[in-house]
Amino acid sequence: LSAWAGVPAAPADPIVGLNQTFADDPSTTKVLLGVGAYRDDAGKPYVLPSIREAESRVVNGNPNHEYAAITGDAEFVKLSLEFAYGPDSAPLQEGRVAAAQVLSGTGGLRVCAQLIERLPRLTGSSQKPVCYMPEPTWGNHAKVFQDAGVEVRRYRYLDSNTKTTLDYEGMKEDLLGAEAGSTILLHACAHNPTGVDPSPDQWRDLSAALKKTDLQLFFDCAYQGFASGDAEADAVALRSFVEDGHQILLCQSYAKNFGLYGERVGALSAVCSSTEEKAALESQLKAIIRPMYSSPPIHGARIVKEVLGDATLRAQWTGECKEMANRIQEMRSLLREGLAEAGSTKDWSHITDQIGMFAYTGLSKEQVQKMRDESAVYCTLDGRISVAGLNRDNVAYVAAAIHAVSK
Ligand code: PLP
Repeated sequence: LSAWAGVPAAPADPIVGLNQTFADDPSTTKVLLGVGAYRDDAGKPYVLPSIREAESRVVNGNPNHEYAAITGDAEFVKLSLEFAYGPDSAPLQEGRVAAAQVLSGTGGLRVCAQLIERLPRLTGSSQKPVCYMPEPTWGNHAKVFQDAGVEVRRYRYLDSNTKTTLDYEGMKEDLLGAEAGSTILLHACAHNPTGVDPSPDQWRDLSAALKKTDLQLFFDCAYQGFASGDAEADAVALRSFVEDGHQILLCQSYAKNFGLYGERVGALSAVCSSTEEKAALESQLKAIIRPMYSSPPIHGARIVKEVLGDATLRAQWTGECKEMANRIQEMRSLLREGLAEAGSTKDWSHITDQIGMFAYTGLSKEQVQKMRDESAVYCTLDGRISVAGLNRDNVAYVAAAIHAVSK
């Protein structure tokens, strides 16, 4: 008898599983709007020219392949923190931000979740580790935290009537009512899956209101630069919380904005109240990382370091990142126009109001399934489409397919 005979098949990840179903579909007009990876106007994966240049500089430098430190490349971490917090950020200038290079956004989330899980034991508190996340949120968030032993709860986010706009009052009420000592997960910009963010005024209001609570704020920043095309603008929310004195946790991913998906490049950080606290926290991060994967990969971090550390290359990257964001915004407009041209009289303004890689169409599970069956247009069952999968050749077809199931 096989040692694994009793093992049942685990459910496929809903987003990654969609790729397989799509690949098996014989349709010649099929369109995949599932996974969140940028595609160019020909529907192909895209390597930014600035990243190609940085990579060739890295390779031409004949670097060795020694292990990185447990918390990764120190220069990469420094540049990443300046990129997110801004070089003039007080906690950075005062040397009180604990940080580590990690395995992209997901890896950072996992390490931070473990830190949250350990915190009560480390500080001698009897508090249960709890994290509140938006309803809805990225499909992997809850699993990452649960696997680390953190209890997951939800706060209201999307308006349950419109299904395409923010329920700000509901969100604020839930956060102010959250159990003291808990962690609150916030999307720094371009909320996934909805593309709906609080306005700058709402962020400010939230920061002031949350100052009166005993909650640990945790920003997941997977789209800095990619959301609006301006990396500074996309960091405004998290920077304003830091300015207001919140000791945030932050996870940064370079998957989307630098197009370094498979290289697994990211950073995590925690704003501390002193350099002593920072040193203690970093030692705890090392204690989590060392038995988990020992140290992060080096290649992608070298590329990011080359870009962020060189003014010319960085300016080039800024322009190219903006081009990606612009193409996505253009596809949003074309999709909306296409829906009108297909004869839809519904209000699709949310498609152009939402930002980032995804549009939350408001299609029901049944409509998504019908669109898959009738037109071979694939998106996740929550009605989220990856706008990056649209291009000039397929946008009218997709608009007609959406109209066909929503009229
Ligand atoms: N967080 C959010 C909100 C995301 O949308 C994603 C990717 O889709 C991630 C984190 C993690 O991405 P990665 O692990 O590839 O950096």
